Amino acid sequence: MQTITTVAKLRSTISEARSGGKSVGFVPTMGYLHDGHLALVQASQMQCDVTVVSIFVNPTQFGPNEDLSVYPRDFPRDEKLCHDAGVAILFAPDAQEVYPPGFHTFVEPGELAKPLCGSFRPGHFRGVATVVSKLFNMVQPDVAFFGQKDFQQCAVVRRMVSDLNLPIEIVTVPTIRESDGLAMSSRNRYLSEEERRRALAISRGLFAAVAEFQEGERNARKLLAMAKQHLDTVDRLQYLELVDADTLEPAQSPLGRPAALCAAAYIGSTRLIDNVVLGISGGCGAE
Ligand code: AMP
Repeated sequence: MQTITTVAKLRSTISEARSGGKSVGFVPTMGYLHDGHLALVQASQMQCDVTVVSIFVNPTQFGPNEDLSVYPRDFPRDEKLCHDAGVAILFAPDAQEVYPPGFHTFVEPGELAKPLCGSFRPGHFRGVATVVSKLFNMVQPDVAFFGQKDFQQCAVVRRMVSDLNLPIEIVTVPTIRESDGLAMSSRNRYLSEEERRRALAISRGLFAAVAEFQEGERNARKLLAMAKQHLDTVDRLQYLELVDADTLEPAQSPLGRPAALCAAAYIGSTRLIDNVVLGISGGCGAE
C-alpha cells in the first residue's frame, strides 16, 4: 500500500496503477475506521482492480459549533487497517492540500440537501458535495462507494454525479451494525458506557417500525409512532422522519414506494444518525 499526501503524487500513482485498463474503486472517509468503512473497502475490492481510500476530516462540512476540532483521529491505526485490508492507495491530504489559500469555489446541492440533516446542519451538504467532487476529480475513480448509514449524503452525491455528468458509478453499501444493532460510527467513541446503552433506542425504534412494515403496516403516521415510542427515550430527538427514498419528501400514506425512516438524536452531547429503508430502496440504491 502507498500512503500519499499530495494531489500530484496521487495523480501519477493512480495513472500508473490504471495501466493495462485496471478499474479504480474509491472509498472516501474521514478516518477513525471501523467495520462500516471496511465493508465499503470490501465492496470496492469485489468490483474493482485497485482500491483507493481517502482519509480527510473535511472542515467545510462542519458547522462553527460542531465537533471538527475533536473529531476522533488515529492515523497509524487507520493506516494499518487499510494495509491489512489490501487497500492499494491511501490518500491522506492535509487541509491546505485540499483547500489551498484563495480557494473559493463550492458545489451547492439543491432540494435534497434541505430536509433532515440539512435543516439542522446548514452548509453541511455544500461542504460534502464540494469535497466529494474535488476528491472525485483527484482520484477519477470508475466506481465510488458510500454507506447507507448516511442516507441523505448518498442521495445528494448521486444527484450531484447525475447533474454534473460525472462518469462515476455510485454504489451504496448497507449499514454495518454492532451485534446489538447500534449503527457503527466513528462518533460512537464519544459515548460513555451508560450512553452507549441508551443509544440503542435509535436502532430499536427503527427496527420496531421495520417489523410493523413487514407485518403489512403502510400508514406513515403509525410507523413513525411505533419508532417514536423507543426514540422518545433519547436525550434530544432532532428528527424522526419517513421520507420518499428518492425525493426525501415526506412519504405519502399508504406507502406505495420505497421510503426511508431517518433519525438524528443526541445521546448526551453526541449526535448520532441512523436510518432503515422500508421496501426495495430507490434513490439511494441500497436494499
Ligand atoms: P465517515 O468517515 O463517517 O465520513 O464515513 C465514510 C463512509 O463510510 C461514508 O460513505 C459513510 O456512509 C460510510 N459509513 C460510515 N458508517 C458506516 C456503517 N456503519 N456502515 C456502512 N457504511 C458506513
